[in-house]
Amino acid sequence: MLLGAIEAGGTKFVCGIGDENGNIIERTSFPTTTPDEVLEQVVKFFRDKDIKALGIGSFGPIDLDRTSETFGYITSTPKLQWANINLVGAIKKEFPIPIGFDTDVNAAALGEMKWGAAKGLNSCIYMTIGTGIGVGAISEGHLVHGLIHPEMGHMLVRRHPEDSFAGNCPYHKDCLEGMASGPAIEKRWGKKGQELEKNEKVWDLEAYYIAQGIANLILVLSPKKIIIGGGVAKQKQLFPLIHQNVQALLNGYVRHEVVLENIADYIVPPGLGDNAGLCGAIGLAYEAFLENNQK
Ligand code: ADP
Ligand code: ZN
Repeated sequence: MLLGAIEAGGTKFVCGIGDENGNIIERTSFPTTTPDEVLEQVVKFFRDKDIKALGIGSFGPIDLDRTSETFGYITSTPKLQWANINLVGAIKKEFPIPIGFDTDVNAAALGEMKWGAAKGLNSCIYMTIGTGIGVGAISEGHLVHGLIHPEMGHMLVRRHPEDSFAGNCPYHKDCLEGMASGPAIEKRWGKKGQELEKNEKVWDLEAYYIAQGIANLILVLSPKKIIIGGGVAKQKQLFPLIHQNVQALLNGYVRHEVVLENIADYIVPPGLGDNAGLCGAIGLAYEAFLENNQK
């Protein structure tokens, strides 16, 4: 069975065709310009593809409340051309098939649980460290939603005593995203993360903040696996530093062997690599298909 998938990012849109086993058969991507231009390309890609359902993992904030008049909208995004855009509605109009819709990070968490690093488990979190920091969560088999949806990338963190960087979150300045996203690294050090690989101080500080976010998430959600992706997490030397910092912060309080002894298998890069988001969108499509068949 063919399923459609869209990874709707603030920088680029990735569209793909896959199957119910998470295999990607075909894909394309284009920059996130105006909604009109992007939607035209999306429709062109899926036209005549015989997909049975479509999944969309989107940047946000988005409206996930099915009872809301603005369900399926991208809502108050700072990317102004995209604010108040009815993404699901525009696609549904062209393709009257079941459509699954969730945040980009929830989609990635779903992909990792179905086919990646959290396979066989019923909970995990997926953190992306890129242009922003976002976290998706699955708890007891369900994608976590809420009043709107969690915004765990903006949790508050304790400042490193030697860090004088003010932070660059437009809302909170020195929240986790404001201190540790790709642009925060670039602003603090004057170079992009990919050019700072050999500078140990950069990654010590990065791990100091990311580990606080992860420790908080362990305490709040008790996830069975923690997956960290996104451009910044390509710096593989970050992982052991995060492991050490998380253990130090928890200080033996969370008494499970995955935290105490096997933390390298607990906090890991994506099993699906760069495909987590797109595979997750295939997962959303499949869930929408199954749900529709049960009706
Ligand atoms: P997006 O968040 O837009 O989907 P990315 O996850 O690639 O895309 O995030 C882009 C950010 O990640 C930029 O700030 C960039 O400098 C940083 N980045 C990308 N690749 C790397 C890398 N290999 N090492 C460190 N930082 C990186
Ligand atoms: Zn913030």
